[in-house]
Amino acid sequence: MALKIIESCVNCFACEPLCPSKAIYEAKPHFLIDAKKCTECEGDHAEQQCAAICPIEGAILNAMGEAVNPPGSLTGIPPEKMAQAQAELRAH
Ligand code: SF4
Ligand code: SF4
Repeated sequence: MALKIIESCVNCFACEPLCPSKAIYEAKPHFLIDAKKCTECEGDHAEQQCAAICPIEGAILNAMGEAVNPPGSLTGIPPEKMAQAQAELRAH
């Protein structure tokens, strides 16, 4: 079981030093997780450290391919509210 960083990663470097398994590495075009090393933090931390610090919603997926920080989880703004606000801004 391993987490995965996808292309919306902004290369902020926050996750890399926190990984207890040294599974995260800098790559192009964005940081990656070595699936062979990632333990999902089991035995080290209750929370997956990379997902806990990552400021970008949806940038880290679990083994099922689901966002660990889904849209709205960090901002507290429900996705439909965000879409509505953006539509209103575009209308002005
Ligand atoms: S889940 Fe834990 S072990 Fe896996 S990459 Fe993230 S910080 Fe490292
Ligand atoms: S914390 Fe998130 S955005 Fe920052 S480098 Fe890691 S995966 Fe990318």
